[in-house]
Amino acid sequence: MSSNLSQIFQQAYRDLRPHLQPPEFEVRFYRFANINNTIRKRSGRILVHVSDLLEGAPEPILYAILHILIAKLHRQPVDTAHAARYRRFVGSQAMTARAQVIRQMRGRKRIHGPKGRHYDLDRLFDELNLRFFHGLMARPQMTWSSGRALRRLGHYDSAHNTIVVSRIFDGPQVPRYAIEYLVYHEMLHLRHPVKLRGSKRLVHPAAFREEEKLFPKHAEAQAFLRRLGSLD
Ligand SMILES: [Zn+2]
Repeated sequence: MSSNLSQIFQQAYRDLRPHLQPPEFEVRFYRFANINNTIRKRSGRILVHVSDLLEGAPEPILYAILHILIAKLHRQPVDTAHAARYRRFVGSQAMTARAQVIRQMRGRKRIHGPKGRHYDLDRLFDELNLRFFHGLMARPQMTWSSGRALRRLGHYDSAHNTIVVSRIFDGPQVPRYAIEYLVYHEMLHLRHPVKLRGSKRLVHPAAFREEEKLFPKHAEAQAFLRRLGSLD
């Protein structure tokens, strides 16, 4: 199975970068808690982890995800047909059901859950994932806080891979862009781990702040949040 995956990887690589010799690479299925796929470069080698939830997926789907990952690594445009094919497959009912069962088996206890009265955190995450991250980010546990916390409007708990959003946001008085921005901010914490400079922890390094500005209404949203409390 994995040797097949290697062949598909080579094909996708050649199609995207026809004039280049493919570098050394390792590509394999990997057990994530969710449908997640990662690519990175380590001392000249490309390492690819494809969610084992995609094991047994049809070849065009595996080709599509490898195409997306390679394009992303080299900052090349993602072919929209491949992106759509992959999204359709992952969004299909069978796949969603499978992911859900596996998540329940592997997952952690859900304390308060993602569904609020006004906003569904899972849905917000999925939409932001498509808008800003090619749909490639693995969804952590999304949950509303138990109380109506103001001290912490939102935070990402890396130990439990959970984004917690204060329940005060679950109301009609909260503009959609404000809660979207809050979730987007927490998603960036997944991408930008805390950096150490001496004994100082850089929670929002420069690259984090740059990426934050990609959110269209970030200034308005920040102003809205500042009136309420603070963000971790
Ligand atoms: Zn933060």
